[in-house]
Amino acid sequence: MIRDSPRSVLALPVGSFTLPSPAMLIDRIETIPVRIPVRTEHRMISALGKHWVSEFLLVRVFTDEGVEGVGEATVTPRWSGETAWGAKAMIDHVLSKVVIGCDPTAVEEIDRRMDLVAHNNWFAKSAIEMACWDIQGRAAGKPVYELLGGNCRPLTMRCRFSMGAYEVDHARRRAQELIDMGFTTIKIKVGTNPEKDIERVRAVREVVGPDITLTIDANGGWNEPDAIRCIQALADCHIDIVEQPLPRGNYTGLARVRAETGAKILADESCFDELEARELLAHHACDAISLYPGKNGGIRKTRVIAELAQAHGIPCSIGSNLEWDVGAAAMMHCIVATPNLNVERYPGDCLGPAYHEFSIATNPLKIEGPLVTVHSLPGLGIDVDWDVVEEHRMG
Ligand SMILES: [Mg+2]
Repeated sequence: MIRDSPRSVLALPVGSFTLPSPAMLIDRIETIPVRIPVRTEHRMISALGKHWVSEFLLVRVFTDEGVEGVGEATVTPRWSGETAWGAKAMIDHVLSKVVIGCDPTAVEEIDRRMDLVAHNNWFAKSAIEMACWDIQGRAAGKPVYELLGGNCRPLTMRCRFSMGAYEVDHARRRAQELIDMGFTTIKIKVGTNPEKDIERVRAVREVVGPDITLTIDANGGWNEPDAIRCIQALADCHIDIVEQPLPRGNYTGLARVRAETGAKILADESCFDELEARELLAHHACDAISLYPGKNGGIRKTRVIAELAQAHGIPCSIGSNLEWDVGAAAMMHCIVATPNLNVERYPGDCLGPAYHEFSIATNPLKIEGPLVTVHSLPGLGIDVDWDVVEEHRMG
């Protein structure tokens, strides 16, 4: 609904009907780029390089009724092509123009408008979308998961831990620490060098014993022959699922790797939107799909893909781009309210806030070892300390 439509009703001749009350409207959007170091022990190394500092764009969406929502664009240029400054420019100069004046509860219409004016830019779009859900929840006095139909699983999720592509000794030490912390599923980053990848996974399996679930994630870093060779060489390590062995876009190759090795394949970078999900399904290229609101352009779009996959018998899980407090909360609301985000079968991770040196939330998600709990407070349930944000503003 655009700004003029509900107001224009007032200009109509008044008959015997009751005038609808004007909708709450978005009247301003503020964007703040910030830069936060990752805690030393959580620094990530993957086929995409090192992740030692995070940049985010925090998005404040204001309405004419004084209700405010917050969103987060979790930007990683080498992964999604987005940056804090790029997302800021996209929102300030392109997306704001088509969402200011809209009813923040009309999420599908907001999505449609954003997609009409900008291709991709999923994390920027998701920041606005999650802020709209936040507004809707705060206005209704309900947590976002209630707006999505209620929680279909507990508010506490058991996470896997995503371990970097470390040298073998470091990987051994870290694996033991993770076991001691209570993790029962460990994802190991591979895709940097086939020999080192095999050595690292073997070493972790030795440390953790047979009862811990191991998965691997190549982040698209292997080619087809290397993927097949590594997966076959690791057969005795009992890998539960292999995440994104080949670069995004190569659906036929992914299907061949799956058929040739018999390994279960988890698609991640291969699935940003519904069209890509349909490609995966048409090619029988995967056994599960990793989804998350940032990557998929918002909570609503994530759920559309989850439902599509469910109709094809494909479970989904949740992935992470090291979200901060707001982005992680959006993930948790989506997880607990979406049946086919099957984190019981394929654990995901939503530990991003614990990776960073400080929190901007006065009431952050509860993170204790592998367990993350979402609040039942209204909206996304995260109140931001904007003074802390200002201290870390970029530029
Ligand atoms: Mg991944």
